[in-house]
Amino acid sequence: MQDLPATEVRTTCPYCGVGCGVLARVAADGNVTVRGDTDHPANFGRLCSKGSALGETTSLEGRLLVPEIGGRETSWDEALDLVARRFSETIEKHGPDSVAFYISGQLLTEDYYVANKLMKGFIGSANIDTNSRLCMASSVAGHRRAFGEDIVPGTYEDLDQADLVVLTGSNTAWCHPILYQRLLAAREARGTKIVVIDPRRTATAEECDLHLAVDPGTDVLLFNGLLAHLDIAGVIDRNFVDSSTTGFAEALSVASAEASSPGAVAAGCGLAEADVRLLYELFAATSRTVTVYSQGVNQSAHGTDKVNAIINCHLATGRIGQPGMGPFSVTGQPNAMGGREVGGLANQLAAHMNFDRPEDVERVERFWSAPAMARQAGLKAVDMFRAAGDGRAKALWVMGTNPAVSMPDSARVRTALKSCEFVVVSDVTRTDTTRYADVLLPAAAWGEKGGTVTNSERRMSRQRPFLPVPGNARADWRIICDVAQRMGFGDAFTYDGPLEIFREHARLSAFENHGDRLFDIGALAEIADAEYEHFPPRHWPQASGEPCAERLLVDGRFPTPDGRARFVAVRQEGVALPVDAKRPIALNSGRLRDQWHTMTRTGRVPRLMANVPAPTLEIAPLDAHRRGLRDGDLAHISSRYGFARARVTVSDNQKPGTAFLPMHWSGHFAANAGAGSLATPLSDPFSGQPELKNVPVRIERE
Ligand code: SF4
Repeated sequence: MQDLPATEVRTTCPYCGVGCGVLARVAADGNVTVRGDTDHPANFGRLCSKGSALGETTSLEGRLLVPEIGGRETSWDEALDLVARRFSETIEKHGPDSVAFYISGQLLTEDYYVANKLMKGFIGSANIDTNSRLCMASSVAGHRRAFGEDIVPGTYEDLDQADLVVLTGSNTAWCHPILYQRLLAAREARGTKIVVIDPRRTATAEECDLHLAVDPGTDVLLFNGLLAHLDIAGVIDRNFVDSSTTGFAEALSVASAEASSPGAVAAGCGLAEADVRLLYELFAATSRTVTVYSQGVNQSAHGTDKVNAIINCHLATGRIGQPGMGPFSVTGQPNAMGGREVGGLANQLAAHMNFDRPEDVERVERFWSAPAMARQAGLKAVDMFRAAGDGRAKALWVMGTNPAVSMPDSARVRTALKSCEFVVVSDVTRTDTTRYADVLLPAAAWGEKGGTVTNSERRMSRQRPFLPVPGNARADWRIICDVAQRMGFGDAFTYDGPLEIFREHARLSAFENHGDRLFDIGALAEIADAEYEHFPPRHWPQASGEPCAERLLVDGRFPTPDGRARFVAVRQEGVALPVDAKRPIALNSGRLRDQWHTMTRTGRVPRLMANVPAPTLEIAPLDAHRRGLRDGDLAHISSRYGFARARVTVSDNQKPGTAFLPMHWSGHFAANAGAGSLATPLSDPFSGQPELKNVPVRIERE
């Protein structure tokens, strides 16, 4: 990597799972400018609109700088003493499951690690979940069912090398813009065909070779039809299926019975038969095929089945672990994969170990010398806030996320936060959620703290500080350790910085790992200070004594007990809540190109607000006409959970019977505008991920 001038610092963009490298510079007047890092293999110097505006999000406007108790500014000692005392008293009186942490994909891996260690090894509960539950939990569950471990086999290079890329439930052009630019460059260079499967004609769909505007919730039927077609077309890789998988016959039998012909699939998915045939023929004829899936697949009450329906087609053709091939989950948050590595989800343990294997629990317990090891999975996000609302969770710590807006059925979540006995929020700025905090802890922001993140292709990169920590703010890992020490767990939480935490995390990944877990970064367990400082972006695994693997599953061996991947027989289940006469429109939600989550930072940048300054409801012309709605009218949108208001944009990008509302706005910016207030908490039974994409709503003119 090229040497940088002393004034520039190499770090990573915090705004999506592409994980682009950024070079940040602080001018003499304190202004921050950024440019893309040409040495970073995720972006090679490119940045999207959000990444380019990073410097403008570093102002101190709205920042939390001092701890508060009940709205009164206080010292760290008083605030931390109170948090530790209330958590300890609650645990003593009501047991460890009476407390919970709700954390965030914005945290760095080292922050995540100590939060997970505190809750699962020392408090003795697994009630720690992350907002990644809303993002990619179904992919995690689908990967585990198929591969035995949460593995993204490929790398971004596979997109460069593919001849066909099927983007499923992914508005890549807006949500992973630099990845999309890479894909367009590959198309220019090698003629890659791009297929988009999405109910909306998104910016991504505008550019593609084939757009399949499926009816909401019909993805399993479409991919089951594909599996049946691959068999009929004679392109099943029998050698791979026989030597590397189990369950093919049953999966094919279920798929063939359900999706008997392209015509039946087309009718069930709301598509033209010719388009379905074209997809199937393209897929059958193209060895180098990557299927990218994202929130349109994951944010569903049947997201895990959708993931497995996709993986089944790649296993059947042996298109996995080879250049230009494979199923590829792209995640929303900068560190959604880092969180998964250290057990950020309530059903996971650190280092890709899991509660459903008692030997894993005992292994982690031994490694941590844990005095109170949790032995079963804890409350997932939706259930955690239910527990906060009904009194089972009496003390809740929210770190770096804004569930008062982003959770489905957010009115109920706000009520839960209000009624919970003791709420701690540690964050960078004031949000809708900080209003409910009994104790407010100011956290260091991007540019002020250091650690590692892992992007969507398993590539670990450093975030590095280049700004002083303002006011009395502190890094998240330190706040967590400060509380742990006051709770009496001092010896296990005496880290002097993120590097020491990283080394422990690396040691745990290799601890009693005899090749049964692919996640192994043991080669980094003794990483020197200078090497961590100059840490070049790299994929995991990085196992001791072995060459570092870029692409995984190359030899057709999987981390299951018998070394084989599992086909999962999946059936089309539809949407969680169907539309009806009272609420006849299926509301979809998602990101805008220029905004991040609940806009607590990007919403402060004028040029990012300029393109779409207010929440806008996209609705099909026919549906608008029936309701007397025209462009610019104010619409009242109601579901069985809440309501929102937004200006109307009539657009034939929407299928009749569907509408779209951005996910970003909240009461903080525009009263009752948030998509979370409308969405259902009904969740996938395997992953616990709620169905944020298909909400039956009534739309009327205000
Ligand atoms: Fe940042 Fe994602 Fe844009 Fe890259 S694509 S600059 S990681 S927001």
